[in-house]
Amino acid sequence: MEKKSIIRQDEILEFTSLSYYDPSKIQRYYTFKENQEECTWEEVITFVNLGLDQDFYKNINLVQDPDTLTVLVNKYNQLPKEYVPRDLEIIHPDFNAGEFVLCKEAREAFEEMSRVAREDGILLKAISTYRSYQYQEEVYLRKKTPDMSMEEYRKERDRVSARPGHSEHQTGYAVDINDLEETFAETAAGIWLATNAYHFGFILRYPKGKEHITGYAYEPWHFRYIGKKHADKMQALGITYDEYYIRYLLNSNPV
Ligand SMILES: [Zn+2]
Repeated sequence: MEKKSIIRQDEILEFTSLSYYDPSKIQRYYTFKENQEECTWEEVITFVNLGLDQDFYKNINLVQDPDTLTVLVNKYNQLPKEYVPRDLEIIHPDFNAGEFVLCKEAREAFEEMSRVAREDGILLKAISTYRSYQYQEEVYLRKKTPDMSMEEYRKERDRVSARPGHSEHQTGYAVDINDLEETFAETAAGIWLATNAYHFGFILRYPKGKEHITGYAYEPWHFRYIGKKHADKMQALGITYDEYYIRYLLNSNPV
């Protein structure tokens, strides 16, 4: 087949100079660019490195560093079945709708954020946090009826629920806050979080209009703790965590 477009020399220089450019993926970059001409080279390299040139849940990596604060868990990166975070702690009852737990650092940051929000008249409560692999399996399969084939079921379910091992909730760094409805975005709490969460190290993990990158429909209630430094930087860049991870975290030494 004839190539649709010729890649100019200056373009080649532009993308090969990116720190996350991987020469072993060159053919995949070209193919992706041919099919998605509107993407910049920066996006092409990022998306292919994420694995987005293949379907979700294809070429799955088993996460090697599950205890790292900045661990990436998505539809291409799976946590080990037996993985349980080491320092789960129960959230203060004032900000907890049940017996929910987060990793120590995230638990402290969540409480700090919730106290500041309360001063602004906003009540934040954790309604889902750490989930084990086994519990996620149950959550994922919850809506399955016997007449549905697994393939049919996955097609719809994958948009809103993670397959076991692929849920960020298993890291102990993710928290669902107050309400699992898209309308949460327009509530005072939803607006407050979208505006302020990054000051406390939390980021909106599944933003609107980014399903092609994150693999999930908009979830204005789901926040991920990554620490203030990275949350600040991500907020300024306005990109998803998946993209941020490829560009700034993978292959660079944690600071
Ligand atoms: Zn969630």
